[in-house]
Amino acid sequence: MARYTGPSCKLCRREGKKLFLKGDRCLSDKCAVAKRPNAPGPHTQARKSVKEYGLQHREKMTARRYYGVLENQFHAYYEKADKQEGVAGANLLSLLERRLDNVVYRIGLASSRKESRQLIRHAHFTLNGKKVDIPSIILKVGDVIALKEKSRSSEKFKALAEQMEAVITPKWLEVDKDNFSCKVIAIPQRDDIDFPFEEQLIIELYSK
Ligand code: SF4
Repeated sequence: MARYTGPSCKLCRREGKKLFLKGDRCLSDKCAVAKRPNAPGPHTQARKSVKEYGLQHREKMTARRYYGVLENQFHAYYEKADKQEGVAGANLLSLLERRLDNVVYRIGLASSRKESRQLIRHAHFTLNGKKVDIPSIILKVGDVIALKEKSRSSEKFKALAEQMEAVITPKWLEVDKDNFSCKVIAIPQRDDIDFPFEEQLIIELYSK
């Protein structure tokens, strides 16, 4: 399946909630969800009764769009989460949170997950001292990511460094702002993830 390349704000309007796909704009009064909360397309203001499957499907799409993950990969995460000990829904979110592109975004070195993927593909980062260009890598406890030395002097990253200063880092990550690096010090738990997912709906959908 091809990656979605249309307008990001349309995805938020479709889900009826902010998915924070466009950096600073998402926090401004230009946000499309704030201005036009109805879904895109005709007749969308009419009230619809959403059946069980519809709710489950929408929750899956919300999570997929929030993290920027394609269906096949998302399903693979579910299968992995389901085999792990503990609650499958929390396991699923923990895997998604530990994606490299999410971590780079969480520590403020990208203004959106989409930008983070682009920066990673352009090989601006190292993982445990080695070049990395795969945004979907799942980090584990002890892994260290860092901005490459030669990228640190670019105007792009000078601006992002200021953003990094302002970001509140999740407690499962230990950030070294002086060295533009970050270490995973714990597996993220459900209460470390601030987005109000109803992940049990996703698990119900895939368990059918
Ligand atoms: Fe979504 Fe951000 Fe666009 Fe608002 S500005 S609709 S949160 S992508």
